[in-house]
Amino acid sequence: MKSIIIILGIPGSGKGTEARLLKEHYSYTHISTGDLLRALEIDPTGDLDDKAKLADMKAGKLVDDSLIYKLAFRAIESSLNNKKGVVLDGAIRTVQQAQAYDDFFKSIGKDNDVVTIVLELSDDLARKRLLKRKICTVCGHIIPYTKENDLLTICSECGGELMVRHDDNKETIEKRLRDQGNEMLAPIVKYYNERGILVAIDGSRAIDAVDVSVCEVLEKM
Ligand code: AMP
Repeated sequence: MKSIIIILGIPGSGKGTEARLLKEHYSYTHISTGDLLRALEIDPTGDLDDKAKLADMKAGKLVDDSLIYKLAFRAIESSLNNKKGVVLDGAIRTVQQAQAYDDFFKSIGKDNDVVTIVLELSDDLARKRLLKRKICTVCGHIIPYTKENDLLTICSECGGELMVRHDDNKETIEKRLRDQGNEMLAPIVKYYNERGILVAIDGSRAIDAVDVSVCEVLEKM
């Protein structure tokens, strides 16, 4: 199996859920740039200049590339040095970022050790999912919307209280789908397609079905 798995998809496509499952199946490190940014937000020792860049996240905009690279590259290198593969979730949201990650992978001799999975989902279905999912106030675990999860009030991972994520409100969702929806994803998908390292998976299905398809693809590589 490749040691770097990139998961692409619009917000709500199930990137985080699938990345967590891959962590369970293969003991890879799950690196979510959204999680790294939210962790920085509540870190009292976090760099103040870095924290100032988080205003964009609250507004539903993309955060400055330099902060993304600083957080993500450090986490990737540390995991690979410990002989653990990585699953990148939400880490690449522009072609410019895709190129910067490629340069980084080359610089650490890993450019042939990468596979990209895109979880395909319509903006419309994403909108519905985002309005209904929840996040744990203690551990940050995201609880995707399913009929069973809809009734949950307590986190299945740590017992913490669940709430709606602050950027999962109608207005910010629209902004995120404009900035990070399928229209914006298309050139990134094209970039990886041209490199011949992209596999598309139908992300509109149930979590288990998506997981089976993703694992089948990864185990063949
Ligand atoms: P997520 O948890 O993946 O939905 O990310 C939450 C927010 O963090 C996004 O709406 C962006 O503001 C920011 N963010 C996460 N990853 C990136 C990235 N690769 N580039 C720029 N901003 C990002």
